[in-house]
Amino acid sequence: MIPHIPAKYRAGNPHSHSKRSNWFSFVVITLIVGGWLSITACNPEDVPLSEENVPATQLDQKEWAIALHGGAGTISPDMDEERKQLYYDGLTDALTIGQLVLEEGGTAVEAVVATVQSLENNPVFNAGRGSVFTREGKHELDAAIMDGRTMEAGALTGLTTVRNPIILARKVMESSPHIFFSGLGAEEFADQTDVERVENDYFSTDERREQFQRAQDRSSTLIEPGWQRDNDLDLNLKYGTVGAVARDREGNLAAGTSTGGMTNKQFGRVGDVPIIGGGTFANQMVAISATGWGEKIMQQVSANTIANLMEFGNHSLEDAMVIMLNERLEPGDAGFIGVDQFGNISMQMNTRGMYRASASSDGERVILIWEDE
Ligand code: ASP
Repeated sequence: MIPHIPAKYRAGNPHSHSKRSNWFSFVVITLIVGGWLSITACNPEDVPLSEENVPATQLDQKEWAIALHGGAGTISPDMDEERKQLYYDGLTDALTIGQLVLEEGGTAVEAVVATVQSLENNPVFNAGRGSVFTREGKHELDAAIMDGRTMEAGALTGLTTVRNPIILARKVMESSPHIFFSGLGAEEFADQTDVERVENDYFSTDERREQFQRAQDRSSTLIEPGWQRDNDLDLNLKYGTVGAVARDREGNLAAGTSTGGMTNKQFGRVGDVPIIGGGTFANQMVAISATGWGEKIMQQVSANTIANLMEFGNHSLEDAMVIMLNERLEPGDAGFIGVDQFGNISMQMNTRGMYRASASSDGERVILIWEDE
């Protein structure tokens, strides 16, 4: 598949300079090229890059950069120390794994898969082991990955036996003519691969079971009248997802997201996570992973809208995310992590918190939970 590359990021095409023996063609080409040069000279975006005309965000270009999240929502500041430590440890481990991949010259896709896999294996996050329960008391997992270099993608919804959905998403991306498999078809695709399979109750934890019980007692789902954005239910009752975005040493970007979805979700409910451009998106400019209220995130085609604000509106990554959160979504709806082609990282939310972490080749390394940290 030949990806669309925005003109301003396209490298020169050597085949565009074929010789012309015909004099008339030479004159026409000279006139066209001359005209083109005078037009581009007026366009600041196409001026050759030098220290004076490069925007500040591009000057401190990073060799590699990575960001991850473990879900956004109402996170109580009174969380006990032991629990807080579990989150910090989980974020730290996943960040270290992704960072090592990039430091050693691995690709953005490899870093995203390794990072998300670590979060999926950690039962404190709502993805892989530790996924929330559906209304029927089971687990149905969603995941997606996108390679910004090729714009190829792999997505799955309703997985029930795949230990690490992000690994299968990569297999869809790399070895299937299709992009998105659901339910039984997704399981059948898994049968044709060597991914590790588990019983559905592998994903269960006591804590999720208690949350499920509480949610059932309150008949609480996002689409029932009892649900409100500012409820005081703890984060994990409603939200939770994991995701990672990375820029590798070659300048390529990737995004991946994985989730158990929403506690007490109804039959076959699909969230934003596996919807390309909804909760997961990457191109040559930016990679985005979302978390939060999936229905709202997908209505706004959020990850792709952020990328479009950058490509067509010339907004920085951070501005694009803030516009999305403040002007298109409502308080309490979502959080995003992103990295652009220069290695700039942004992690923004309009919830009270988002488990998040980032690192880059300039030595910066942050691990955060609450909004105002
Ligand atoms: N966005 C996910 C979903 O709706 C949940 C989350 O991110 O917390 O499935």
